[in-house]
Amino acid sequence: MPNVQDVASVIEEFAPISLQESYDNCGLNVGSPLMEVKAVLITLDVTEEVINEAIDLGANLIISHHPLIFGGLKSITGKSPVERTVIKAIQSDIAIYISHTNLDKTFGGVSFKMAEMLELSNTRVLSPEKNSLLKLVTFVPSSHLEKVRTAIFDAGAGQIGEYDSCGFSLLGTGTFKGSEITNPFLGKPGELHEEQEIRFETILPTRLQHKVLKALFENHPYEEVAFDLYPLNNTHPRQGLGVVGELPVPVDEKMFIEQVKKKFKAECVKSSTLQGNQVYRVAICGGSGFSLAGEAIKAGADAFITADVKYHQFFEVDKKTLLLDIGHNESEQFTKELIFDILKKKISNFAIYFSKTNTNPINYF
Ligand SMILES: [Zn+2]
Repeated sequence: MPNVQDVASVIEEFAPISLQESYDNCGLNVGSPLMEVKAVLITLDVTEEVINEAIDLGANLIISHHPLIFGGLKSITGKSPVERTVIKAIQSDIAIYISHTNLDKTFGGVSFKMAEMLELSNTRVLSPEKNSLLKLVTFVPSSHLEKVRTAIFDAGAGQIGEYDSCGFSLLGTGTFKGSEITNPFLGKPGELHEEQEIRFETILPTRLQHKVLKALFENHPYEEVAFDLYPLNNTHPRQGLGVVGELPVPVDEKMFIEQVKKKFKAECVKSSTLQGNQVYRVAICGGSGFSLAGEAIKAGADAFITADVKYHQFFEVDKKTLLLDIGHNESEQFTKELIFDILKKKISNFAIYFSKTNTNPINYF
């Protein structure tokens, strides 16, 4: 039987926890990582009703998109709904695991799932993340290039778009002189040594730095491995918030709004003023994503779908881009299917349930 940590690892392989935003609280909110998992309940939010649902189903692990504990708890006495939910979960031996902004920012995450519902094609990250790539340069004797390169690539370096194993090698002369207490792989202690070496360079996501360097050190033959890590100004094309893609065919604004309402089962949506434009390219950010409106306009999106848009923000969008607020819960409802798909591919020996509790705190009348 897999334990909580095993299940968490499956999710984190798809959505590494290091991707979460600094304000977030992803990972295990309640429970022991070592507890055996009997069944899983997937939800967008954790409430007392959701805990009751888990108890009824015999599910002892709840996987939620939104954290139950966000800003920390100073006491747990049951004075707030969050505290009561934590107490109920602990008393019922139920663990609560969160995959939030890491699931938003990973390639194929929350907004990609929304794009799939709208049948967008050629989908790409709307706001590729900055400062998340490094260049690694190392110097290897030619006899060990293949071994070192393979290990580094296996650790996740060298990925550029749909290409992996991207690297560059250049032959040159390295020099070194070890002190008397060294045990050099080539040459003798205290003597200057010249060696034909390959300067090998590749690219890697910052979050894999530790893993890639470990692979380098374990496979490079020298006592002291010479290497440089450079921060890059490149954006990471497969990491970031939002998505942009194209509809199967252009449609007029009214028809587009109707399609969106139907696909997202939204009773009503808030829209900027219709301009009589056709909608073909669509940008999306699940949840509160108005901060990406500028990126949507820059990407030439005819429409931008998100949630939690304020009154004044509707004035800020270009007339070329139709702004739609479809509701936070509505925008992220398919995240449950996304989590289910991630788990189902790797784990088959316990039941996975979708929560039927309506946790949307907003009602329409
Ligand atoms: Zn959200």
